[in-house]
Amino acid sequence: MIVAPAVRRQRTLIGVAIVLGLLGTVATLLQPILIGNLIAAVVAGESVVPPITLIALLFVADALLAALHLYLIGIAGENIVLDLRTTVTGRLLHARLPAFQRLEHGDVFNRTLADTSLARLALTSSVAQMITAGFTTVGCVAVMAWLDWRLLLAALGCLGGASAVALVLAKGVRVAAAQNRADTSDYGSALLRVLGAVTTVKASRAERREAERLARLAGAARHSGIRVTRLSAMFMPAINVGTQLSLAVVIAWGVARTATGSLSVADLTAFIMYLFYLVSPLVLFFLGLGEFQQGRAAIDRVQELAGIEQEPAGGPTTGSNGGASAAPAPAVVFEDVSFSYAEAAAPALDGVSFALPATGVTAVVGPSGAGKSTLFQLIERFRSPDRGTVRVAGADTATTPLAELRGRIGLVEQDAPLMRGTVRDNLTYAHPDATAEEITDALRAAHLAEVVAALPAGLDTELGEGGIGLSGGQKQRLAIARALLGRPRVLLLDEATSHLDSDSERALRETVTAIGAHCHVLTIAHRMSTAMGADEILVLEAGRLRARGTHAELMAGDPVYRRLADQQLAPVGAAS
Ligand code: ADP
Repeated sequence: MIVAPAVRRQRTLIGVAIVLGLLGTVATLLQPILIGNLIAAVVAGESVVPPITLIALLFVADALLAALHLYLIGIAGENIVLDLRTTVTGRLLHARLPAFQRLEHGDVFNRTLADTSLARLALTSSVAQMITAGFTTVGCVAVMAWLDWRLLLAALGCLGGASAVALVLAKGVRVAAAQNRADTSDYGSALLRVLGAVTTVKASRAERREAERLARLAGAARHSGIRVTRLSAMFMPAINVGTQLSLAVVIAWGVARTATGSLSVADLTAFIMYLFYLVSPLVLFFLGLGEFQQGRAAIDRVQELAGIEQEPAGGPTTGSNGGASAAPAPAVVFEDVSFSYAEAAAPALDGVSFALPATGVTAVVGPSGAGKSTLFQLIERFRSPDRGTVRVAGADTATTPLAELRGRIGLVEQDAPLMRGTVRDNLTYAHPDATAEEITDALRAAHLAEVVAALPAGLDTELGEGGIGLSGGQKQRLAIARALLGRPRVLLLDEATSHLDSDSERALRETVTAIGAHCHVLTIAHRMSTAMGADEILVLEAGRLRARGTHAELMAGDPVYRRLADQQLAPVGAAS
């Protein structure tokens, strides 16, 4: 539940706005009486200055109250939207990765942008409108009861029937609106997917097919949108029919009673005037209710998104650095670890055990789908093992606080995504407080110092979207430098599959070897040169650790490694 607290935080503002709205209603309701006084003064030949002054003051007060009411409601609404959006984005970023990856980005967009806005309307203006209109309705009904309760019962009988119909319609609107929000989201998600793959769409000559599919989804949204409109459109007529019916009944019965003398003509006239007065707030009330119901569909969707499973923080911070005592703890230990993805039939890792010393370089090789990336996922605790224990720097990942655990790990992904901003922004992303000296050290360790010095504005050079201006190898070394700034105990490096030119490849290899002197580098190797340069190689196949050793040992003793070396890993120097 995130909506209720967000509204609760605005209750004072909403409360004041509603009180102002009610005062405005009182000012409106007083106007006929004062106009009556003015007419009486004119008829009696008295001075009209006092009543006119009073009426003018009332008009101004009415306008001011209405403006202030709308303004405060507007502020409360924006505050609620801000509250909902910050809570939702916070929870999205702290969500467990598997849950996060199941989300459709288009749907998330829709829920955080459009649905929060709809929720704002429902929670502020619609509620305020229902309350002020409800207040006027009650006021009118009270006066009418005082005038003649039997006529009131007759009038309410007709109006009540119409209101019951309106309530059923409101319920229908909520269901239809929920469907409409879902349809709109489907269209948004599909659009986002197509936009992200526009080159593939064009290359596959699928523009027409995709356009038709999107048109179909847009059509579904139109269809459910029309259903919402149809149900909403029936509100007014339902109330109108009720009003006309009650008017007919009141006039017929009222006139009959004036004939018998049990009701005065003056009372009947006043009663009928109030009946007219009652209609507008009643309509407003039900319109507000309709809008509120539409908003509730949106609120449910925001609520659902905010309910995304959160990453457990993993126990209190211990402040330990994972065993820096006498003998440094092994960098990474897997003890009989098994893991299966929820949807997969076979385990991605099956009884894997190994230990990596505090320093050195280990390469992981294996055919595609062997479980290499899954290994990294478990070390970072993006996912948790089904069985067994994973230790990083001596501490069990299951119980280490997440921030502490991830602070000990440097992750360099295959496509080394860069963030917006300058080289410096990118470098210090995980450690914004890094000193100039630390930055220089990290750049030197990643063999990037000269490259950065040659950039037009050095560290302050802007990198375009996706890091334009740096080669693939340089981008990955920049990501390594970023990871090194945190002085990790283990550096996870998913080597880029794309070919690097031989200079870049050598620079990367030298970088990795030099870093291996200070922490342990665990790298997914796609190139022979990387495997050969490692102190040890782990060979994974179908989730099992089938062999480990040096290049020479494995070439001699492991047929799978030999096959990989022959077929899959590009030979040294093949890159151009
Ligand atoms: P590698 O990195 O060696 O290519 P992965 O660790 O990515 O292998 O995958 C290991 C196995 O787990 C493969 O069979 C793959 O299909 C499966 N797998 C990977 N990611 C997912 C996922 N998100 N959901 C379901 N199965 C997955």
